[in-house]
Amino acid sequence: MLKDFAPRVRELAPEGAYAVLARAKALEAQGRDIIHLEIGQPDFPTPSHIAAAGAEAIRAGHTRYTPPAGSHDLRVAIAETAGPRRGLQFAPEEVVVGPGAKPAMFCAIMALVAPGDEVILPDPGFPSYSATIRVAGGVPVPVRLAPGKGDGRQPQGDVPPSPQTFDMDEFEARIGPRTRLVILNSPSNPTGGVAQPADLERLAAAVRRTDAWVLSDEIYTQQIYEGEAPTIAALPGMRERTVIIDGFSKTYSMTGWRLGYGIMPAELVERVDLLLTHSVGCTADFTQVAGVAALCGDQSEVAVMRDSYRVRRDRTVALLNGVPGIRCPLPEGAFYVFPDVRSFGRSSKWLADYLLDRAGVALLAGSDFGANGEGYLRISYATSMELIQAAVERMAQALAAL
Ligand code: PLP
Repeated sequence: MLKDFAPRVRELAPEGAYAVLARAKALEAQGRDIIHLEIGQPDFPTPSHIAAAGAEAIRAGHTRYTPPAGSHDLRVAIAETAGPRRGLQFAPEEVVVGPGAKPAMFCAIMALVAPGDEVILPDPGFPSYSATIRVAGGVPVPVRLAPGKGDGRQPQGDVPPSPQTFDMDEFEARIGPRTRLVILNSPSNPTGGVAQPADLERLAAAVRRTDAWVLSDEIYTQQIYEGEAPTIAALPGMRERTVIIDGFSKTYSMTGWRLGYGIMPAELVERVDLLLTHSVGCTADFTQVAGVAALCGDQSEVAVMRDSYRVRRDRTVALLNGVPGIRCPLPEGAFYVFPDVRSFGRSSKWLADYLLDRAGVALLAGSDFGANGEGYLRISYATSMELIQAAVERMAQALAAL
């Protein structure tokens, strides 16, 4: 019986992407033709030199336990590549590897957040943030995302810029002595927005007035199409209170390999190391060998994938803005668009269900990402241009019938 389970799991809900994927698969099993725009997963294969390194590592016997915080070689490779990209220097002792970015993030939150601590998080935002905060006994404090003020971007026609950062007035009103942690995610899932330097400086100034830590989820940091994604960790006084989360799933198309990492002060790494020790044990050794090959090998496929996403983003936004009733900002990063569908007068969950059932297009309700996602849909464009085109045509027809 549900009531017999611990309170920390009673309120856990499935992640929208997995729930919709399961429904879409069930429809496919009945013979329906479904276009998948729901899951945040690159459609490219893992670059062949990375896959070969992993396969060779299995043959060479890299099939045993490694230290819980990761193999020495991978921690060194991460420190040597992730630091310079951000204009920072990291020691391997500040790096902790996990089976995906999610476990690294989960353990960092468990290590920092005590029952009753407040954690500020983006709304709309990645659903695992609020779930993990609750498991830790913390209190999620969602703060609305808004277009930043940092770069003076103008609306395109009647389409406003994509939400990139916290609504700063709301953020400054919510942060205070009870705030233990502030979660940032730039480029953002689900909006694709990228926080600009001036916005990060204002955020950092507010954080420095408190004892709060920052968890900066930078997993989409290499999927940027305009400018760069600066990290808050590079601002004065921030590095010693910032956890950077990054990984291989998106950049190297390695979602199923399960490999990610956190970069944080070495004392915190020691605590996270213990949580990993007593939960996952360690990350697969051959996967970590493949990770070293990813970071230290040829990066040209990363650029090819990024260029392809840029073309798809432009096309997706143009197609969606051609559908009466949809207004879609042009996001600067990640591989999602987050169009405004409020004009249809239905909840975003209703619309997502309708588009799956009626048009065979699987996408996510913005409300899966928080209350402020209501009225929006999240669409992943990490799929072929033909499928994107077909999906938008089907959506246009179905929406016209409303
Ligand atoms: N953070 C964000 C914002 C994501 O969108 C995802 C995956 O969808 C993750 C973290 C998790 O990545 P990983 O596959 O490395 O666990």
